[in-house]
Amino acid sequence: MEGPILVVNCGSSSLKIALFDERLTKLASALAERLGKDDAFGAIKDHKDHVELAAGADHKEALNSLVAALRDSGLLEGQPAAIGHRVVHGGETFREAALINRDVLAAIKDCASLAPLHNPVNLTGIEATTALFPEVPQIAVFDTAFHQTLPPRAYLYAVPTRLYKDWGVRRYGFHGTSHQFMAREAARILGKTPATTSIISAHLGNGCSITAIRDGNSVDTSMGLTPLEGLVMGTRSGDVDPGLFDFLANKGMSSQEVHQLLNKESGLFGLSGQTNDMRSLCELANHGHEPSQTAIDVFCFRLARYIGGMMASLDQLDALVFTGGIGENSSLVRKQTLGHLRLFGFTIDDQLNSHHGSISDGQIEGADSRFRVLVIPTNEELVIAREALASRKG
Ligand code: AMP
Repeated sequence: MEGPILVVNCGSSSLKIALFDERLTKLASALAERLGKDDAFGAIKDHKDHVELAAGADHKEALNSLVAALRDSGLLEGQPAAIGHRVVHGGETFREAALINRDVLAAIKDCASLAPLHNPVNLTGIEATTALFPEVPQIAVFDTAFHQTLPPRAYLYAVPTRLYKDWGVRRYGFHGTSHQFMAREAARILGKTPATTSIISAHLGNGCSITAIRDGNSVDTSMGLTPLEGLVMGTRSGDVDPGLFDFLANKGMSSQEVHQLLNKESGLFGLSGQTNDMRSLCELANHGHEPSQTAIDVFCFRLARYIGGMMASLDQLDALVFTGGIGENSSLVRKQTLGHLRLFGFTIDDQLNSHHGSISDGQIEGADSRFRVLVIPTNEELVIAREALASRKG
């Protein structure tokens, strides 16, 4: 292969890029944050070396600066062999990764109304790398694609079907690359093939979602039309009574204010009144801060309810899998959540759990547990690099 694989992940106000070799070993990474703000900043080499960004730099400027910094430091020579982009919303058009061409770009644009904060910046990232590397093949990897196997009973809301037909109102699901990675990794650990492996995958980070995967396919997931539905998250409420919108509108709040409240001021942050960070919440709760304990309790109970609900989509369960910053690191959240599920036959081994599964190929269930329970670090960048490499070979 002539050059490395470049992975580009444009968030609403951030940019992460990474370089992988043909064996999919990570060579370098870089990030830019607070894009569009006066204090925008960037860094390379696993985020250690500072990269100067102009005040108010946007995604395009940041991408140019980070690529130039990778070149200056000798981490990127010549051109990448392929470029993989994370794209948040692929609607119903994309069931898998797609080689980017004019039609694919138009389809990503069409999905922008479903992800107004994300798809436009994903397109900016694609345009910027196209300008830098016009000859290099580029691949779009969609957060929603893995969930395109959901059956209608799982993706339809009980609202008039014209909303679905006219405006695409349905459940799409997100974090698809992470859940797909969990399905593959769990199959590997269990010595099975992905196509015969059924798991419940709980991705618990700042954003949280849970997915039932039957024989390798996503069959139910907690996020919906937008990434607001489902579990309690860092600052997102997850499920609320839809009547809340009406109630708050009658109190004089605009739709923008409600959006801000439910997306940025709710979740762990809203419940604790202190922080969206689970590690800090656990410390606060340890020191007797009751609202922080309540936030953890609501988080774990909602998660347990969802795990129970996901059982309805499966006829066997090979493993329950935890991932994401909280899922991988918080033994307390895992233990408290499984404590609600004893009736299903889940038990946990305290020693394995406190080692985050790291001494047992991820295993944390008790010897008498009816189901396997695994902790698996997620790696969405790797999935994107693998897709880009596959398109290069195929
Ligand atoms: P992510 O979005 O996947 O980076 O996850 C971020 C979340 O993981 C934050 O709530 C962190 O507090 C949480 N987290 C990271 N490390 C730990 C830990 N050791 N214990 C509890 N939560 C953690």
